[in-house]
Order: sequence, then C-alpha cells, then structure tokens
Amino acid sequence: MKIILLYGGQSAEHDVSILSAYSVLSAVYYNYYQVQLVYITKEGQWVQGPLLSEKPSSEEVLHLHWEEPGATGRVIQPCEIKEDNAIVLPILHGPNGEDGTIQGFLETIDMPYVGAGVMTSASSMDKIMTKYILYAVGIPQVPYVPVLKSQWKENPKKIFDQCEGTLLYPMFVKPANMGSSVGITEAHDRKELQEALNKAYLYDSRVVIEQGIEAREIEVAILGNEDVRTTLPGEIIKDVAFYDYDTKYVNNTIKMQIPAQIPEEVQTKAREYAKTAYTTLGGRGLSRCDFFLTNKNELFLNEINTMPGFTQFSMYPSLWEKTGLPYGDLIEELIQLGLNQYSQKK
Ligand code: ATP
Ligand code: MG
Ligand code: MG
Ligand code: MG
Repeated sequence: MKIILLYGGQSAEHDVSILSAYSVLSAVYYNYYQVQLVYITKEGQWVQGPLLSEKPSSEEVLHLHWEEPGATGRVIQPCEIKEDNAIVLPILHGPNGEDGTIQGFLETIDMPYVGAGVMTSASSMDKIMTKYILYAVGIPQVPYVPVLKSQWKENPKKIFDQCEGTLLYPMFVKPANMGSSVGITEAHDRKELQEALNKAYLYDSRVVIEQGIEAREIEVAILGNEDVRTTLPGEIIKDVAFYDYDTKYVNNTIKMQIPAQIPEEVQTKAREYAKTAYTTLGGRGLSRCDFFLTNKNELFLNEINTMPGFTQFSMYPSLWEKTGLPYGDLIEELIQLGLNQYSQKK
C-alpha cells in the first residue's frame, strides 16, 4: 500500500509541516508501505517527489523539498494524486491544510485520508467557531471578544471600548485561523492592542481577543474515530511567559513534563473535556486539546488542533509514546483509522 505524504503547504506553518513530514518519513514501516512524496510549495504548486521504499538517509531527507521543482520533482495537478490502494497523509498545518480545504478536495476525488473531516477541520481551525461550539456543551473557556476586520476598520474606538469593558490587560490577540503562535501578540495597553490587531489582520480577517491569564499549559492527546482514546495530560514547561513561534520551533527551549504533575481529579477533568470537545466537533483520527490550568486548579480549554505538531519531539506523539504507543505504531494506527473512516462512508 502507498502512503501519499502531503506536506509543505501555503500557510505560515509551511516549515513546521516539513519538520513533521521528515519525522514521519523516518518512522513509517517500509515493510508495509511505500511513501509517495508530494510537496506543496508556498505558492501552492504541487510537486511530486520520489516514491520511497525505504527510509531515506538524513542526507537525502534534506533534499526532499523544492523551492524550485528540479530534477527530482515534477509539478502535478492536485487531482493526479488519485490512485487505488493508497491513503493520503496530509501532514499540513494551518489554513489550506488543517482547515477543511484539503479534506474537502480529498473527499471530492474520493481518496481515503488520515485525520479529521471537512466540518471538524474547519470548525476546529477557527478559534471563534470553536469557542461558540464548545460553549454550547459547557466547556470552560477564558472570556474573549471576536472582532472582524471590517468592524475594526469601521470603528476602532468601539472595539477598544468593547475590549476594555469586557477584558483586562494583558490580552491575547489572535488570528482566528492560524497555529504555531503565528500572528499572536500579548497586548498590555491600548497602543499594543492596536498594533496587535493590525498584525493579526495580516493573517486573517477574523480575529479573537482573549483575556490573558497566568496559567500552566496542559495538553491532552486524542486518538480514534467513534471509539475515542485520550492520554494523560502533559505539561509545557515554559521559561518564557508566552509560548511563541521561536520558542516552539527555533530556540528549542521548551521542556515537556509527561505526565503533567497535577492532581488526579484535574487529569480526569482535562481528559473528559478533551473527549467532549473532540466528540462535539466530530473528531476523526487525531487531535491535541490544549488547556490552561490556574493555580486554583481551574481548567480552561484554549483550543483543539486537528493536525498537531507531529515531529518526533512534539507533544502529541510524545504523549502517545509515554502511553505505550511508539511513533511508528502511532502512524500505523492513524492509517488504519483513516481507512476505516473511508470504508464506513461507502
Ligand atoms: P498551536 O501551535 O498550539 O496550534 P496556536 O497558534 O493555535 O498554537 P494558541 O495555542 O491559542 O495558538 O496560543 C499560543 C500560546 O500563546 C499559548 O500556548 C500560550 O502560551 C499563549 N496564550 C494564548 N492565549 C493565551 C491566554 N488567553 N492567556 C495566556 N496565554 C495565552
Ligand atoms: Mg485551533
Ligand atoms: Mg492551535
Ligand atoms: Mg496551542
């Protein structure tokens, strides 16, 4: 069987996707699968790379993406990936990958794929939609104000008043559809709020302003289709106030504590919320659910990621590893879940 590995992509999380793809490539069970590489450039060109029957060397891996399609890559039309006896692993993060667009395309050409479907991807990617939906099932979240770009342009003073009337500084300003902390700023006063909003609108016309809270960050890994499994929570130990892009992927200063050293009832609560969030949003395959935990042991759901960072060092695979499911087995499990989902549809 073939795994069609889709990676790169047009979102600001392009580079993160490449890192995730490299990890997948070194862990796939090549005695069962061949891996067809399909790299999506930042401009949105699809480039078909080599078909791998064995683990590439680390030297080879470095040449598996092409800013300019060269001798090893051929530009293709997206629908050319359609073939029998293959499953797509869209290891893409952010808009145009994790937001239901690729998933809709794969549904249309009738290809099985790993992970969440269209509705789940779209509503989990959009932080505003996620909040509305999870409010309906009673999952605690921090106070927030959603602001469309048109509203901000029309009357900035009204937005300032609305934010300052509802929230306290510091506030977190986020593009609704993004990940890896791209476009997110912590604002401590009105001037910073203005700058933060202008920055967030570079990435999305939908922005959410959240109450900043001082809290620990706890994450739960979720795996399954109808039958949902969760891990014990892990903790992101930050020596910085804000877990930004550089901390995540450039400086490597992050420490993970697995399982998180938190009371058992908090662990249980976090897993319950994660499962409810996943089920409510119609999750399939995998997700990572992120929480804030205050020093009064109050939990707030921050967000759910349907295609979480997937390098061997990322939280999601590490949580499963500690639960007894090593990285290679995890990929295998995800492929089986994707195939089951596809055959159920038929
Ligand atoms: P991911 O890479 O996990 O998908 P993301 O880009 O979707 O990240 P968030 O997880 O919403 O963004 O926020 C990124 C980080 O910013 C959080 O991990 C946390 O450190 C900080 N943060 C976000 N919202 C708040 C808040 N309301 N209060 C305090 N810190 C926050
Ligand atoms: Mg999200
Ligand atoms: Mg996210
Ligand atoms: Mg997050």
